[in-house]
Amino acid sequence: MSLSKKNIILKGVAASPGIAIGKVFLLEDDEYCLIHKEIPKNARAAELKRLDEAIEKTRAELKTTYQKINSVLGENYAKIADVHIMILDDPVMKKDVVKMVDDGVNAEYAVFKVLDKIIRSFDAIEDDYFRERKQDIQDVTKKILGNLLGKEKKPLSKIDKESIVVSHNLTPADTVAIRENFVKAFATDIGGKTSHTAIVAQSLEIPAVVGLRSISANALSGSVIIVDGNQGIVILNPTEETIANYKRELDIQSAKSKELAKLKDMPAETVDKHTVQLLANIDNADEVKSVINNGASGIGLYRSEFMFFNRSAMPSEEEHYQSYMKVSKMMMPYGVIVRSIDLGGDKLTNLGFLSMEREQNPFMGLRAIRLCLKYPEIFIDQLRGILRASSEGKIRLMYPMISGVEELREANKILEKVKKNLRSENIKFDENIEVGAMIEVPSAAIIADVLAKELDFISIGTNDLIQYTLAVDRVNENVTHLYDPSHPAILRLIKRIIDAGHEAGIDVGMCGEMAGDPYYTMLLLGMGLDEFSVSPAQIPKIKKIIRSVSYEESKMAAEQILKCEDKESISKIMKRLKFKERY
Ligand code: PEP
Ligand code: MG
Repeated sequence: MSLSKKNIILKGVAASPGIAIGKVFLLEDDEYCLIHKEIPKNARAAELKRLDEAIEKTRAELKTTYQKINSVLGENYAKIADVHIMILDDPVMKKDVVKMVDDGVNAEYAVFKVLDKIIRSFDAIEDDYFRERKQDIQDVTKKILGNLLGKEKKPLSKIDKESIVVSHNLTPADTVAIRENFVKAFATDIGGKTSHTAIVAQSLEIPAVVGLRSISANALSGSVIIVDGNQGIVILNPTEETIANYKRELDIQSAKSKELAKLKDMPAETVDKHTVQLLANIDNADEVKSVINNGASGIGLYRSEFMFFNRSAMPSEEEHYQSYMKVSKMMMPYGVIVRSIDLGGDKLTNLGFLSMEREQNPFMGLRAIRLCLKYPEIFIDQLRGILRASSEGKIRLMYPMISGVEELREANKILEKVKKNLRSENIKFDENIEVGAMIEVPSAAIIADVLAKELDFISIGTNDLIQYTLAVDRVNENVTHLYDPSHPAILRLIKRIIDAGHEAGIDVGMCGEMAGDPYYTMLLLGMGLDEFSVSPAQIPKIKKIIRSVSYEESKMAAEQILKCEDKESISKIMKRLKFKERY
């Protein structure tokens, strides 16, 4: 492809709406990797000191972990931290690492090499005991490396003038760095519509197109580019005429937004007076202003895991507390649903021991509630922060990725113990804090009736529910065409979850992207959804549709659609009902 050609149009996946015209900032792939560095003789003493400090810091952290788990779950659970301290103090391991550093190898590489050798020696042994020890050594390695490597680099923070970022990929952690600078849009080779990178673009209210396959190989730094997040296209080297057309389109859009802004203080109520809650999804306290400006009546999903990105230490209990306090105070008199951390999948952090492992199937791996149950010390800090904040703010707690009732009970058991400790410390919290779960795994959807009996509310996570039900990776552009919210299996599951919630007398919300897609608003209304939680920028559009339709008509439409056996019949009914013309 030659850039002397004009109007090179690349088609990708529309990830975040809007149009941006600007200059390319080409972000080279610069994922962190451990490198072997030669340490000169005169710097080796300092390198050994750095190693010692990292080990000491890790030991102190492990002791705190021990105390934390011991006080909530008892000594049996806390033993794991003791085992980790024993590994850390192993004289042979320390001697080998020190020797490598003495010979001129950088500390992180030496730690990695020595521990990796031990881990590999366990590979050949088929035994549960050794498998567990292997995992322990891996955990300790990650902890020491986390302390040695310190703060993650933020390549995007280098941007100091208005730009459009073009990259092979952007992780959610990368996109968080965008918040602090001048990025007007981004375009990537890979990614799907409901990848977290796309979701962050929506929350930043900047256009994004992902899954363009070869944009990073074709765009030149500094050249002009148009990102059309509405149609999912990117235009390289646009002609003057194309630029002028897009500028006109931008004017039209801004006039439309002004019109929609007038709905800000109006309720989300149908013409026949059926009211639903229209809430917002956020991943950062800074977004609350936009939530309020767009007229949401609460936060239906606070993706708390974003607090774990681009930093050198785990968020403390106090930080959790402060952040939930800040959001809930700003949102008063409305409520906030804080979701306990959902790290894993495409949301990996480079944070200490949570950073290093790349699983084969991360979306089906140690993610969300599974991670919290495996590392209760992280969960406990967050639960204490949430509970403390609940004494003043209107806070509800929600668990992600619950797949069965046992998991829910285990999480609740920890929650009860944390509550007990707070009581004994005379720390106030909302004794009646509501606890809900996301229904986003097919097994949970199938037993929604069972789960609903033990929950105060339910929120449907369609981003994951679609991915797991249809076996379509949500971040993979090659299968985007199969990622279909209107698949009859998905619609039936959603209806089943809503009915199960209502049967148990609890509200059912939806915080997946489907809730913010105007195409589905009437259908979801008709299925009986109580709460729509969407990205702040989508609130006015969804409100406009809700206010322009009748609940009775929506119910009838939903009933007809649920009887359909294939996508074609569904889309025929959607067309007949003019779903599209309503927004
Ligand atoms: C979902 O899965 O629909 C959801 C809202 O959670 P997340 O996108 O953070 O996985
Ligand atoms: Mg999810």
